[in-house]
Amino acid sequence: MFLSIFDIFKPGIGPSSSHTMGPMVAAARFLDALRGGAEPEPGAGPPARLTATLHGSLAWTGKGHATDRAVMLGLLGFVPAKVDMDAAEAALADLKETRRVTPGDLPEMAFDPEADVVFDWGPPLPGHANGLVLRAFDAGERLHMEETYYSVGGGFVVTSRELSDPPDLHAAKAEAGFPHPFGSAAEMLEMGAATGLTVAQMKWRNECALLSEAELRAKVDGIWTAMNACIDRGLSQDGILPGGLSVKRRAKAIHAQLREEAGRNLAQPHVVNDWLSVYAMAVNEENAAGGVVVTSPTNGAAGVVPAVIRYYRDHCVGATEEGIRTFLLTAAAIGGLIKHNASISGAEVGCQGEVGSASAMAAAGLCAALGGTNAQVENAAEIALEHHLGMTCDPAAGLVQVPCIERNGLGAIKAVSAASLSLRGDGTHFMPLDNCIEAMRQTGRDMSEKYKETSQGGLAVNLPEC
Ligand code: SF4
Repeated sequence: MFLSIFDIFKPGIGPSSSHTMGPMVAAARFLDALRGGAEPEPGAGPPARLTATLHGSLAWTGKGHATDRAVMLGLLGFVPAKVDMDAAEAALADLKETRRVTPGDLPEMAFDPEADVVFDWGPPLPGHANGLVLRAFDAGERLHMEETYYSVGGGFVVTSRELSDPPDLHAAKAEAGFPHPFGSAAEMLEMGAATGLTVAQMKWRNECALLSEAELRAKVDGIWTAMNACIDRGLSQDGILPGGLSVKRRAKAIHAQLREEAGRNLAQPHVVNDWLSVYAMAVNEENAAGGVVVTSPTNGAAGVVPAVIRYYRDHCVGATEEGIRTFLLTAAAIGGLIKHNASISGAEVGCQGEVGSASAMAAAGLCAALGGTNAQVENAAEIALEHHLGMTCDPAAGLVQVPCIERNGLGAIKAVSAASLSLRGDGTHFMPLDNCIEAMRQTGRDMSEKYKETSQGGLAVNLPEC
């Protein structure tokens, strides 16, 4: 099993990795297929019109997650990692006027933003809760090409063919020679014991199979730079978040209070929890506003890992830049195990897979950065994940705001507590991380669809009277 740190931590735009980034990636992949990556239907003329049909959770909460906008941006040629928001807004405005897209190397094609994104409220597609079908027609309205994509969480997208016959990532990249290909926490601990390496060192050596040490260091540092910039941006913004719930941004005001109180000697010890929350909320307010965030491992859960790193950097004794790299590499290793063996998708397993996974990653990362052993790292991740088991995904109005913004703060607090508890032991504990990940997978499988990013139950149907 190999999932790169750069698969787990990816820059993109809010508010959702599965409902915004994934569909944008799917649209970009469809354009590539039209450019010659796939065979058109026999006898069809060149593509002249495009449509997109959203299914399952993408339909149910697609409006709140701006999925229609994301598909349009993808068809206009934008990709999440490089999107220039000003250019994107201008292109969307132009599309509304002209109802035509002109992606590079393809003929101009009709696309009506009002009519050509269809929200299908029927049963989800068989492969996954987040399905979308993209179609191209020729000038005579004959089908030119059709492809079904599934957005499986964290911005990852697969076609229906890839879903039923997944490319074996490990085999496909085996020639790169990953020296420590652990696919479970048990294997991770065994390989660490056999080599004397930490989780971060094993992850580093695996990544070095693809990049030089200098490139890898620069790219890992770039992840933290982007995360930290997102925190700072979120701490400087105020106003009302988009979407119609009239949710106010709070991070800036809370941060100002905390800074003001920091000069006094009267602070209560639990105020450190407010620092953790405010860092996380800053990121998730940016995400809710459609700003640039880093998936960690998803957009909805993007605040937890940055908040705990900022806590480590600004509040912990002896924090170093190398400690931040250790944090990120360890967190990515744990995120990879969870994605490989269960899911990081709220539409698949509920919020336990998003904020729960993020909290486990952050707990492991902090534990490692503070000098924890591999056993303590595994223990920290397990504690954090265990106490998110069963957590549903029920966002109000399908927006990644309530409960998501505060929930990231609470996920960060749990991560710090989990790392701290773990560091007080020697790593031996009752419930292995692998069993906890399997429990999360089974719990998600058994969870009602109402609680898996469909906004059909829980908080989403218990809104206050306005
Ligand atoms: S409730 Fe959790 S899983 Fe659902 S949208 Fe919010 S952060 Fe994502």
